[in-house]
Amino acid sequence: MYEKSEVLFKRAQQFIPGGVNSPVRAFKAVGGTPVFFERAEGSVLYDADGNSYIDYVGSWGPMLLGHAWPPVVKAVQDAAARSTSFGAPTELEIELAELIQQMVPGLDKVRMVNSGTEACMSAIRVARGYTERDKIIKFEGNYHGHGDSFLIKAGSGAMTFGTPSSPGVTKGTAQDTLTANFNDIEDVKRLFAENKGQVAALIIEPIAGNMGCVPPADGFLQGLRDICTAEGAILIFDEVMCGFRVAPGGAQQLYGVQADLVTFGKIIGAGLPVGAYGGKEEIMNVVSPVGPVYQAGTLSGNPLAMSAGLALLSELHKNPSVYEELEHKTAHLEEWLHRVFKHHEITHSFNRVGSMLGIFFCEGPVTDFESCAKTDVEFFGKFFHGMLKRGVYLPPSAFESLFLSNAITQVQLDHTVNAADETVEELIQ
Ligand code: PLP
Repeated sequence: MYEKSEVLFKRAQQFIPGGVNSPVRAFKAVGGTPVFFERAEGSVLYDADGNSYIDYVGSWGPMLLGHAWPPVVKAVQDAAARSTSFGAPTELEIELAELIQQMVPGLDKVRMVNSGTEACMSAIRVARGYTERDKIIKFEGNYHGHGDSFLIKAGSGAMTFGTPSSPGVTKGTAQDTLTANFNDIEDVKRLFAENKGQVAALIIEPIAGNMGCVPPADGFLQGLRDICTAEGAILIFDEVMCGFRVAPGGAQQLYGVQADLVTFGKIIGAGLPVGAYGGKEEIMNVVSPVGPVYQAGTLSGNPLAMSAGLALLSELHKNPSVYEELEHKTAHLEEWLHRVFKHHEITHSFNRVGSMLGIFFCEGPVTDFESCAKTDVEFFGKFFHGMLKRGVYLPPSAFESLFLSNAITQVQLDHTVNAADETVEELIQ
């Protein structure tokens, strides 16, 4: 049933490290052979063997309105026919920056880059340049891309300095990244007190999407806002995942808290490689060529990426009812999966914000990395494969959020619930 994918995976491993260009794709967390895809339409994926799947990954977020959404396809085709890159300014870049500013609160200036990683790396550099301080605070279980400063494993409570969690990250870099527990304002206060006047920025996924889905506790984001203001540190919201997904203005709009800098990726490029960072004019004015903080990119503001992003964001701007529909569909899925798991007495818990859904096979509530790590990874792996063979493609890791697209239909949601019922039935026998 996966013969072609198996052949392709063997071939890929001869030429590409681990056969993949991003580690989670290798299925190491769930076992088995990664599925190789050929095409997709709306919320349906088609693999090399001709199998089809209802998609709950959406390319890890960008596909808010589904795959091959015709206005995006047309925008990219038209742009490509005019040239795939100029390496010089275009009107498209202004249009996208203007639109982003209309949708997201508090963005005076926006700079386009090529990925979420680049956006977060650049935002940190800007914060350091602006404050003339070196240290940053991040949260355990938050992912901000693979920039060296972010690949720091959280130390134990007693550990003041981070330790590199990936070889290749120098001790010097690790020392400048401090790690706090998510949703734990006292831990943040402690780090600020221990590093008085040294913290340039605090970066957070305001809705953590890289440990399932973990929303901020009531008042947590406002608490961070207050501390950063008092300490003169830059508050960075990493909205690479939740930006344009949970509301047109992202988590800032949803929770009514204003960051100093915000990073974007994923939806902003509708599936093309793009990211962006932006914020208050005074801070963004340190960015080259206005200011001394260097940041550049041969392909930044690429016309294909700008056109795709413009097509998708224009629709979200014009038609915010998309968010209500997504809320309704995802709430329905959560409710019915809950009924299935409850019926079969499977220990579980959910976290959900709009169309981001975290499924945990452990007791809730899941509020941080420690509670998230209790999920039954082995059971998730079996559940994943049971769903896969029934035509449902879940994220191939127990620690990732599901992302729904608004292309999903009631029939597909019902199929998913039935598949879950059959899978669990099979697993508990
Ligand atoms: N920030 C968050 C919250 C992410 O989820 C990701 C990727 O999943 C990134 C940053 C990095 O983005 P990219 O993979 O585009 O470099």
